[in-house]
Amino acid sequence: MFISTRGNIEPQTSAQAIALGMVPQGGLFVPCEVPTVDWRQYIDSDYAALALAIMKSYCGDLPEGTLEQAVKAYHDGRFDTDNPAPLVMVGNCGLLELWHGPTAAFKDMALQILPYLLTASTKELGEDKEVLILTATSGDTGKAALEGFKDVAGTKIVVFYPDGGVSPVQEKQMLTTGGNNTYVAAVKGNFDECQTAVKHIFASEELRQKLSENQKVFSSANSINWGRLLPQIVYYYWSYLEAVRQRVVAPDAKINIVVPTGNFGNILAAFYAQKMGLPIANLICASNKNKVLTDFFEDGIYEINRPFYLTTSPSMDILISSNFERYLFEISGRDSKQITQWFNDLSTTGKFQVDADTLNNCRNNMTAGWADEAEVLATIRKVYNEYQYLLDPHTAVGMKVYEDYKNSNGDNTFTVIASTASPFKFAKSVLAAVTDDQDEHDPWAALIKLSTLTGWKIPDALEGLREKPTMDVYRCKPDEIAPYLMHMFIEG
Ligand SMILES: *Cc1c(COP(=O)(O)O)cnc(C)c1O
Repeated sequence: MFISTRGNIEPQTSAQAIALGMVPQGGLFVPCEVPTVDWRQYIDSDYAALALAIMKSYCGDLPEGTLEQAVKAYHDGRFDTDNPAPLVMVGNCGLLELWHGPTAAFKDMALQILPYLLTASTKELGEDKEVLILTATSGDTGKAALEGFKDVAGTKIVVFYPDGGVSPVQEKQMLTTGGNNTYVAAVKGNFDECQTAVKHIFASEELRQKLSENQKVFSSANSINWGRLLPQIVYYYWSYLEAVRQRVVAPDAKINIVVPTGNFGNILAAFYAQKMGLPIANLICASNKNKVLTDFFEDGIYEINRPFYLTTSPSMDILISSNFERYLFEISGRDSKQITQWFNDLSTTGKFQVDADTLNNCRNNMTAGWADEAEVLATIRKVYNEYQYLLDPHTAVGMKVYEDYKNSNGDNTFTVIASTASPFKFAKSVLAAVTDDQDEHDPWAALIKLSTLTGWKIPDALEGLREKPTMDVYRCKPDEIAPYLMHMFIEG
């Protein structure tokens, strides 16, 4: 069963929590009890078998056949490697490459699975309704969600992205999805404004009512949906199994995990893996110049009244890290009154401050750091020169924060860094970092140059993308989203 971080809904089954996406009155679903899963039992398993076991431990109410069907996605050719999440040694840390799926970013690891969970959940609830999936994206979620839900019967998906706030390649990827149930809208404003507008739609009783009258329901493919987080827990277990198999970690020895963080979903999945019994010593939360989380770990104040920067790691250009609410819920001993207070403060004043105990508990569990733009580029260059290994800018943020961490405390624990995107997704920045070619403004030419220079193959997801025909995009202001949805999907 699943409860709300704000204590404002009675416990729900996993089918209900996944179908709803978030608590309609505000708040996020968290498991009532966190199951334990013993990594030793899976040392000989393939990825799908591990994924099945972990998903079953949370979704006992979904038909086993659905879960079995879902995990086939990892081995049926959608990923370009037999191992969907290889652990590659670079220097003395392990890079967990999570970008071998159909869109070349880690979001595929979960978004290839979520459609199965979501359609099974609505069926389980006996609702013969069409699911209208709304997704705000800072770039990578949008394409991965479109790709996951494309042509899935009984669903329509609308992706909202900040107009001008995603890379040309990301935009082109979204606009070339195809499928008979996919829609894309560019919203004036930054990602936070986009995400907040979409959250308001979910919270609108009026729209919900109208949808229901038309045999439709809303759901979300963002990491506010538990069905998104769940498949992400799997790869942290996998990284541990791989490290033991490669003999870089002794069985039962603890490891550290570094996660380049935006909405706090990916690192939250690592946190739950730790709660489930995976031997994790320290979690390291890496931010770019939008370092709202690093500041929080300094002084216990979460403050979004600050400049918003567009960086070379756009998927981390976020000030409102939605899943931090779940983390604070767990860390504060599941105090839903306190969470409600803090997050009301955040939406009314743009900040909240936690008590000293909570801050201490956070610090004992997690370390936070950030990297500026020059450091990110220098890290990409250094790692390429030393190891002929290409980091994308998001992963480079993680690498730099890890180096700072290690230099400051000498912790030699084996460390896994979540590698969240293919370097080719951000070819222009990566090319500028590894060569003196600073002037390649054409992202498509940069792709080819990077491949020629390094001998690395352009992922199928990006090869030939430039020539593909694009679909129409609806451009609007945040307050035009509701009328658009009414017109396109409810009254129409
Ligand atoms: C989404 C994304 C992130 C941030 O992950 P969160 O779960 O939002 O913290 C980091 N890097 C890349 C490449 C991403 O696409």
